[in-house]
Amino acid sequence: MIYLDHNATTPMAQAVMAAMLPVMSGVWANTSSQHGPGQEAKRVLAGARATVARVLGCKPVEVIFTSGATEANHLAVRGLLAAAPLERQRVLFSSVEHAGHVRLARALSAADVQVDWLPVQPGGTLDMAVAKKLIGTDVALVSLMAANNETGVLMPVADVATLAHAAGAVIHVDATQFIGKQPFNFASFGADAVSLSAHKFQGPKGIGALLLRQGVPLLPQTLGSQERGRRGGTENLPGIVGLAAALNALGDVSAEAARIAALRDRLEAGLQRALPDTFVWCQDAPRLPGTSYLRFGQLSVDVVLQRLDRLGVAASSGAACSSGGSEPSHVLTAMGVPADEALATVRFSLGATTTADDVAYLLRELPPLLAPLLHEDLLTAP
Ligand code: PMP
Repeated sequence: MIYLDHNATTPMAQAVMAAMLPVMSGVWANTSSQHGPGQEAKRVLAGARATVARVLGCKPVEVIFTSGATEANHLAVRGLLAAAPLERQRVLFSSVEHAGHVRLARALSAADVQVDWLPVQPGGTLDMAVAKKLIGTDVALVSLMAANNETGVLMPVADVATLAHAAGAVIHVDATQFIGKQPFNFASFGADAVSLSAHKFQGPKGIGALLLRQGVPLLPQTLGSQERGRRGGTENLPGIVGLAAALNALGDVSAEAARIAALRDRLEAGLQRALPDTFVWCQDAPRLPGTSYLRFGQLSVDVVLQRLDRLGVAASSGAACSSGGSEPSHVLTAMGVPADEALATVRFSLGATTTADDVAYLLRELPPLLAPLLHEDLLTAP
């Protein structure tokens, strides 16, 4: 199988499994226990926290372990909003946030929180002119992703952070797709709170973190003594150790990004050469190195995914599946893309396991399967 769906999740690295196994078999005591094994578990937790802090450029106290990015996002938004002064109760989200985050925004809005959306331009990047207008002194929080999971477009985090801070607001950044794929340092990133998830960079699923700048007030959403009272619940120690190991194993992120970007560019250029109807979304925007979001004319994504499956290639659609049908991606819709084009969009996401042979295989096998369908498409077009 050729796996080109790294934005959905990634396989665990060997080093991650090697680090987790001894914890699962031998360090299973509760970190809150007073006895020797509990204290040993507490030491392992402190070690993993120190590693996470070192790799991500933050202080150990700034790391709050969560069950993943969805929980980190919820903790950040609900926790920062609850701690905001009464005269600041407006929250801004970008219109292309992750589907779970959009649901959170809608839930807040339904509960009478004033939610406003920061629009994107047709090219997928944030509309800074509108952001400037919307970020006022009544804003508690701006929540913006660092990189979009569908298009790969990188958002202007530093510029928005400057605007938010000038207005006296705090900024939360969902960096789930960014960390592990681009160099990252919390201290210089500009955000007050940052969400991340281990399974996006060869760590285990069900573990992530919220990085929270020291001194920024946050009300916990799950009550308990763990994580300095900021996130209750017995810690998932094997997961935390796996998260630390995955970060530790990242190596030279810039060099890997350059390798993957070269493969992605070769894939896009090859497909565009073989199938001139290929259109790549956000091709000119600053993008994550491994994300390629494209459509082959108006060819339905279901047909494309079926052919890819036949070739043993795992990719993804830009549509959100709902019971009994598909809805066009809210990200493409926010960019002003018509539904028929959105429903023809496929996402290839390359990553650590992707090789030049994978790209060569796809370029050799896919165009001959799609070309006749595209031709058919043209013949049947009104
Ligand atoms: N935010 C973004 C941008 C994502 O891509 C994802 C995962 N698809 C999430 C949040 C949710 O992460 P998790 O699976 O760790 O809850």
